Amino acid sequence: TDIKELLLSRIRDVADYPEPGVMFKDITPLLADPAAFTALTDALAEIAAHTDATKIVGLEARGFILGAPVAVRAGIGFIPVRKAGKLPGATLSQAYDLEYGSAEIEVHAEDLTAGDRVLVIDDVLATGGTAEASIELIRRAGAEVAGLAILMELGFLGGRARLEPSLAGAPLEAL
Ligand code: 5GP
Repeated sequence: TDIKELLLSRIRDVADYPEPGVMFKDITPLLADPAAFTALTDALAEIAAHTDATKIVGLEARGFILGAPVAVRAGIGFIPVRKAGKLPGATLSQAYDLEYGSAEIEVHAEDLTAGDRVLVIDDVLATGGTAEASIELIRRAGAEVAGLAILMELGFLGGRARLEPSLAGAPLEAL
């Protein structure tokens, strides 16, 4: 489709970043292009509408950039899921495994409540570890996962299959 071509044309491949052998998908050209950024925001807001989301969760850090305008456009709240140690209030935290070592993400416990339907937004789905941990956090907070919406899915890394059990039927939409 037209939007898919527009978005793809504004994502830059950077070889050997952040380490040798990795082809990094750089979205900064897309953010710098108002037509592409607006088209992306509109498409994500459409997903928020048709999944009946009541909150947007954005994953640090590029999920903040994409998720915040979607929340404003959709007229619903934005909640940051941050790396451990950054949020000042009472948090729920979730650890997850990386290729080497582990990481931990957190959310303010009071920001999500029973009855919320949460759309998770991030830029790139790779192995699915970050998204999986965020879904776990949302469930532990008592809220429901309305879906996961991302700009780009790196299909060869198998994130979609990994997320199937935790999404439990909620849609994974990759633009
Ligand atoms: P995962 O947990 O799925 O392996 O990795 C996804 C997370 O790492 C996302 O938060 C995403 O922002 C980041 N990430 C991994 N690979 C890339 C990439 O090639 N480009 C960008 N922009 N982010 C990436």
